Amino acid sequence: MDSDLHSNHQPRVVIIGAGFAGLGAATTLVKHGVKNLVILEALDRAGGRVWTHKPFGTAAVELGATWIHGQDDNPLYQMAKERGLLADDEFSMVTCQPVSVTPQDYFFNEQGKQLPSTQVEHVTGFFGRLMSQINQQDYKPECQSLSVGEYLDREFSLTDLSKAEGSEDIYEWCKRVECIDEACNSMYEFSLSQLGLYTALEGPFFNSLGSKGYQALLDLLIGQLPSNSLRCRKPVQCIQWEGSSSSGLKASKHPINVVCEDGEQFPTDHVIVTVSLGCLKERATTLFDPPLPKGKMEAIQRLGFGTVAKIFLEFSKPFWPDDCAGIQLVWQQGPESLKGYSDGCKQQLWRSEWFKKIGGFDCVPMHKSTLCGWITGLAAEHMETLPESEVGEVCVRLLKKFTGWPVTELQGVLRSTWYTNPYIRGSYTNVPVGVDAVKEQMALAEPLPSTYQRKSLLPLQVLFAGEATHPNFYTTTHGAYMSGVREAERLIKLYESKVNPRL
Ligand SMILES: Cc1cc2nc3c(=O)[nH]c(=O)nc-3n(C[C@H](O)[C@H](O)[C@H](O)COP(=O)(O)OP(=O)(O)OC[C@H]3O[C@@H](n4cnc5c(N)ncnc54)[C@H](O)[C@@H]3O)c2cc1C
Repeated sequence: MDSDLHSNHQPRVVIIGAGFAGLGAATTLVKHGVKNLVILEALDRAGGRVWTHKPFGTAAVELGATWIHGQDDNPLYQMAKERGLLADDEFSMVTCQPVSVTPQDYFFNEQGKQLPSTQVEHVTGFFGRLMSQINQQDYKPECQSLSVGEYLDREFSLTDLSKAEGSEDIYEWCKRVECIDEACNSMYEFSLSQLGLYTALEGPFFNSLGSKGYQALLDLLIGQLPSNSLRCRKPVQCIQWEGSSSSGLKASKHPINVVCEDGEQFPTDHVIVTVSLGCLKERATTLFDPPLPKGKMEAIQRLGFGTVAKIFLEFSKPFWPDDCAGIQLVWQQGPESLKGYSDGCKQQLWRSEWFKKIGGFDCVPMHKSTLCGWITGLAAEHMETLPESEVGEVCVRLLKKFTGWPVTELQGVLRSTWYTNPYIRGSYTNVPVGVDAVKEQMALAEPLPSTYQRKSLLPLQVLFAGEATHPNFYTTTHGAYMSGVREAERLIKLYESKVNPRL
């Protein structure tokens, strides 16, 4: 890219979205000398699905991503480590086991009875081992067209554990909590054969990037941008790329025109689109002119994008024991069994019984009086529509009913609204049953004009990054960041090959 970059005719690059993908792309371009770039961000802040918030005092809570998933080859872990951002406390690390529970998790059933830890350990241990095997693609080959939920049920029914009283309810709890990792409504919607394509990096998960939270990493990246290149409150309405019928575009020396909702226009040579898959599902038909090719539209429709929500509850003082890491709710009947799921869908129980999808409430690092509840899928999307006060009251009722403890005064409620947010529309990507993840993710990531389009068009006009486009690390912050770096490097290579055509 050097000759063009160091001439007076630098290519212009517009990046849409200032999440980790957008920031990864921008900082990589800057490192290679690109100065003519702008990031258009719809929200009033950078970070996207990472949002460090301080609602209950000076310490941060994370409304979106909390953990840095794994260490080896994780660029965000490396960055945080080099800059001394990793907090070193008891909460800061967990091993990356599916459904990892600690002896400090208190499990209660609906009758207010605390469940014996040995029984909980047996069932959660079994479930965790089974999920690890699935993640390593070690499952019975004849089952590969099944959903994860069907496979799990099959294996569980073969064990003696399934016959022990109360164990099935704990097993259903495991499935409910696993929906958080997979951002799915139900384990019956989620593909068994595709799950192992996600790659878990070695090393524990890290939490607690000091009291500044994930924001510390965002600040590090934002600090590397040229001044005034980050434009917040700038929602993009349409990307007119070459071939667009827009008359203004034909007269411009740039092949692309990015039009914002407020009417401001950004003529450019390249645009890197990092908006979430949820946004693409909702507005891909109007966001691009000319429209996206068929293969890309199909990829957008076929890949799944589920909702995971957090509910933070701030109490006047803790009412749980000092050693408690979380209060887990084990329902007797819920939406996790195949029957419960089918009945629930038919009767739309996720509206009236949305709270049955709450797996439990975890203690929050650095907040001694705060709990964080987790909820997924259609129930989470319904929860987002309710008044925050109602959500808080329901949670308090649940905590009283299950634990029987004297619940102290609820002083504050903050719940995430990732689905309702028009510029996010969900939480992260999943792969539904019957979908070929590699094929669809490649189609999603392919730049435009695609190799199938006219050769005469200027190359790499519209590039695609974002968590959903990463074939191995989708769902994560490092996957998002690496996808942005990938697209920036694609552009850099284009200009390098112009200098040296053999490249
Ligand atoms: C509740 C929750 C918990 C999570 N936990 C973890 C975790 O512990 N660890 C982990 O690694 N990952 C976690 N994730 C996932 C992680 O947050 C995402 O994978 C990652 O942040 C996605 O980054 P991105 O840049 O691809 O997309 P985004 O962060 O969504 O960024 C895209 C940006 O584009 C903007 N945008 C959208 N439309 C427009 C438009 N028309 N014009 C201009 N701008 C637009 C959006 O406002 C947004 O800022 C979690 C996510 C959620 C929601």
